[in-house]
Amino acid sequence: MLNFTVGPVMSNQEILSIGAQQVPYFRTPEFSRIMCENENLMKKFSKAPDNSRAVFITGSGTASMEAVVMNVFDENDKVLIVDGGSFGHRFVQLCNIHQVPYETIVPEEGCSVTPEQLAEYDGMGFTGFLVNLDETSRGVLYDIDAISDFCNRNGLFLVVDSISSFLCDEFDMEKLNVQVMITGSQKALACPPGISVIVLSPEAMERVCSRQVRSMYLDLKSALKNGERGQTPFTPAVGILLQINARLKQIESEGGVEAEIAHTAEIAGDFRRKIRHLPFEIVSKSLSNAVTPLHPLNVSAYDIFTCLKDEYGIWVCPNGGEMADRVFRVGHIGCLTIEDNDRLIGAFEDMQKRNLL
Ligand SMILES: *Cc1c(COP(=O)(O)O)cnc(C)c1O
Repeated sequence: MLNFTVGPVMSNQEILSIGAQQVPYFRTPEFSRIMCENENLMKKFSKAPDNSRAVFITGSGTASMEAVVMNVFDENDKVLIVDGGSFGHRFVQLCNIHQVPYETIVPEEGCSVTPEQLAEYDGMGFTGFLVNLDETSRGVLYDIDAISDFCNRNGLFLVVDSISSFLCDEFDMEKLNVQVMITGSQKALACPPGISVIVLSPEAMERVCSRQVRSMYLDLKSALKNGERGQTPFTPAVGILLQINARLKQIESEGGVEAEIAHTAEIAGDFRRKIRHLPFEIVSKSLSNAVTPLHPLNVSAYDIFTCLKDEYGIWVCPNGGEMADRVFRVGHIGCLTIEDNDRLIGAFEDMQKRNLL
């Protein structure tokens, strides 16, 4: 299998071999030490301000999105949501379910929100801002500097879902004054799905601690409290947390987050150069290093996905809904090499010879 989706993605050998071992009992000082290491490296790689915390939720990225919406906002807030694709829309659904008042800002297709668009919402009484830094469904990376400026001048609490951009694109939680950052295990962390991570600034922790949340499993107060001793309130996905530990330490020993971002940028750049002669149009004007969204000029995007999977053993990421025939995506995250790109390009060229492209 050669996997160019945007998650789950391919893991490297060390991570795979951990997955083949027995899962240990976890209420031990040894596991607590591993969890504290995980927390410290997550804070380091997201460039969180001093005295921030990171909690590990057993549940995919959406569980952490929901936990954040429930724990930091309530009916007295008014949040602005960038609704530019299926993940942005998920924040809209979550605010509906949890009765958080909101308005949406809808970017032009394939584009970031602009400073001018944001300026229209100045001084309108918002208290928070929710954005998916890379709207993975469209492959659009938003202008986080402009969003951060807008939030700073309006005093908004900024929540960033960087689930697919973490380790792929520059991000500095402290400099951008981001209060909450969310990511997940199956994107660039390149571990199996099942764990998501929430990094909270001191201000975010204050919000969490001053609110009552109607949930037991997603109560971040108890996650924070248990995390103080390197533990979780309930049995976590222990095996994945051990894999995350190995992966974070690999990144640290291989040059840290900067080197990891540079590697992803290299894989993405190589792919984008090598497809120039192929009948594709890149449909995002603001690309993340994580993914390239492509519109095939001659055939159905979904047919390309099916053909690559069934006839070449290569997986790309189909788009859903009304975009299924128009757009597919090639991810650049996980254990991928330049040679892997060459295999995918070779498959495209072969499909072209067969009149399938
Ligand atoms: C993958 C992803 C999620 C989370 O999806 P899950 O299926 O719940 O893991 C959320 N936001 C973005 C931007 C994503 O790429």
